[in-house]
Amino acid sequence: MLATYNLPILGHPTAHMQRLIRTGALRPAAESPSGCRGPAYTLRTPDDWQIIDDFGAELAGTLLQVNLFRLPTAAYRALLFASPRFRQHDVVALAQALRADDPDRHAWWAQLFEAVRAGPRLTRGLAHVQSPLLQHAVWFPDRTVFSRTQGGGWTVTLAFEVHTQLSDDAPRDTAVGIDVGVRPLAACAGHEHLALYATKLLRPSDRRLETAFRDDRSRHLARRLHHLLIYGEARRQWETLMADQLPRASVVCVEQLTLPDMQSRFRWASTELGIADFLLSWLPQTCYEVGVPVVRVDPAYTSLRCARCYRWGDRPGHGGVFVCPVHGPVHAHVNAAQVIQRLGLAELMAEARRTAPWTREGREAKA
Ligand SMILES: [Zn+2]
Repeated sequence: MLATYNLPILGHPTAHMQRLIRTGALRPAAESPSGCRGPAYTLRTPDDWQIIDDFGAELAGTLLQVNLFRLPTAAYRALLFASPRFRQHDVVALAQALRADDPDRHAWWAQLFEAVRAGPRLTRGLAHVQSPLLQHAVWFPDRTVFSRTQGGGWTVTLAFEVHTQLSDDAPRDTAVGIDVGVRPLAACAGHEHLALYATKLLRPSDRRLETAFRDDRSRHLARRLHHLLIYGEARRQWETLMADQLPRASVVCVEQLTLPDMQSRFRWASTELGIADFLLSWLPQTCYEVGVPVVRVDPAYTSLRCARCYRWGDRPGHGGVFVCPVHGPVHAHVNAAQVIQRLGLAELMAEARRTAPWTREGREAKA
């Protein structure tokens, strides 16, 4: 399946982009990519477009800041594979340290310091970019599109052929409800178990960075590497969730959230932890490819009602416990995932009723 991912061009790219258009390195595209409405441009010569590192690419000698690490793993691997100039910091040990149950903060900072000091190196293998989701992708550099956003910024759209492999022998017998959050990142109501995928957060305070790194450039780089690692870790969790839940899913139910909703509800996390990418791009694209429908339900009250009896309950201190007046305390996020799962099923049944030829609603809809 052809999948496209939109990434913002960071910094202040307008002057660069105008020059690239003026010099003819970019030329007007026939149409804008999905999700982008402004004028769009394609590459005159695909060879002019070179991926440099996780944070940028070069186009006809102009460096453009793009957080390329924010692609799903398969696409990211495909991009690295096709980029002979790609250089990367040594993030393997850092990622492992971040994953430890009880990370040794001192060791972690020492490693981050070392990675920044050593600088990036040409990347030789892809072994460090692993995903639990069996996905293979091929990048099409010649289908890269640059477009102007309504807010005046610029976006680059990267195109990939993506193939997802799910285990064939699992029966698709389960409606899966997913509640997204921050701690945990997500809770699922599915077939046998209710799974939780939390992520570790080691956030660097500005003071910590200032003590560790003397110059602005190193501090900036340390922040970017930290961002990359946190994002990579969250991405691994999202892909674990899909690898775990999609093979048995008959339908996936999630809340209908728009980007502004997410930004107000999860603040920084919608971007840093890939919540928006998961809900708006990776999940719907992967589900579409493997033929699992996605139902989006109204997010109102999903965390305030009991999944078993739909009574109003309590979330003392907005913590991890939901208390139903009848069923007592249950896991708040799992309960929310179950509510979302049931609302999704209810929505599907209402839809079936609206369109079934033997119901009055169905006959009216047909007429
Ligand atoms: Zn109840």
